[in-house]
Amino acid sequence: MIVGIPKEIKSAENRVCMTPAGVEVMIKSGHEVLVEKSAGAASGFADDAYIRAGADMVDTPKQIYAGADMIMHVKEPLPPEYDLIREGQIIFTYLHLAADELQTRALIKSKAVCIAYETIQKADGTLPLLTPMSEVAGRMAIQESARFLEMTHGGHGILLGGVPGVELATVVVIGGGVVGVNAAKMACGLGAKVYLLDLNLDRLRYLSDVMPANCFTLMSSPATIRKLVKKADVVIGAVLIPGAKAPKLVTRDMLKTMKTGSVLVDVAIDQGGCFETSKATTHGDPTFVVEGVVHYCVANMPGAVAKTSTLALTNATLPYALQIANQGWKGAMQANEEIKRGANVINGKVTYKAVAEAFGLGY
Ligand code: NAD
Repeated sequence: MIVGIPKEIKSAENRVCMTPAGVEVMIKSGHEVLVEKSAGAASGFADDAYIRAGADMVDTPKQIYAGADMIMHVKEPLPPEYDLIREGQIIFTYLHLAADELQTRALIKSKAVCIAYETIQKADGTLPLLTPMSEVAGRMAIQESARFLEMTHGGHGILLGGVPGVELATVVVIGGGVVGVNAAKMACGLGAKVYLLDLNLDRLRYLSDVMPANCFTLMSSPATIRKLVKKADVVIGAVLIPGAKAPKLVTRDMLKTMKTGSVLVDVAIDQGGCFETSKATTHGDPTFVVEGVVHYCVANMPGAVAKTSTLALTNATLPYALQIANQGWKGAMQANEEIKRGANVINGKVTYKAVAEAFGLGY
């Protein structure tokens, strides 16, 4: 199979979907790899490294889309790419279709085979291609909230861990999955008082056992969220309903009760966001203020720490990409239920229930 690696075009997205080490493995397995010039540069991988690994370098995305059987990406295809996608071509990347009707309709029209990283799912319900990026985003959420709590960045000037004799910050993390736990761990490590909320009681029992003493687990409900946001300095939105739009858990009315200069980080913005007032932002202009509360809603947070993210992502995607390349998409889906669950749009038909439901499409 010919695998195509285009350069990412989303704002400030510095990751690349395959490292030179991954390209070498792909080629040793009998495949060809086309890489767009400078695709890996922002992640610290020079063209030379790809050439040494055996890749063919090309100048434009058009050449990649015209020549490859499978396109791999990090972020979803953007409008300039829609018409480059060919019928029957495999698109293997993060798609996040349930929050993006324009893209969903473009992929239906393309008649391509679109497999989403984020819906590849193991039998135990975990999402192995979301996990590494969730680890990065969760950890980064606290770095970013610390930055935006500073007065020069619009925050109310509080240090997360305080200092001896001075009250520390209160951090509320909604969602106790991968993002939530990584955010909570970082906030606990910095010494903040952390509330970690989830709907799953077994998960809360586990978290209560393993998290540090300054982390308090609570059952998530509108009443609990309403009560906690009043005293929060930071609220992290980290919920997920797989393949579906995020529920709006912090309303504008709740926002009115929050401290001026407190910070909301809506990590779930790539699924539409879990705060009523969220709208997606970019690394170039990451925040906006509503009701005096700073909102950080960057949809591709891991792009800011591209080196860590590229290595973490490719560790996870390469085995799946190899299986699809070795067996073709039909063979890989027959052999591996996890890949089958990744199918979102095939040959003009939506094949993932939550995406079909989001836009009232046939399934
Ligand atoms: P996860 O499945 O590991 O965890 C989600 C958790 O949310 C689960 O434990 C679930 O029980 C809980 N949950 C669901 N509804 C809830 C509610 N009403 N109240 C409290 N908890 C609730 O998912 P994850 O990997 O942690 O990802 C979380 C979100 O972050 C997803 O939307 C994901 O797409 C997003 N994400 C964004 C970025 C970014 O750059 N912005 C990066 C990575 C992940």
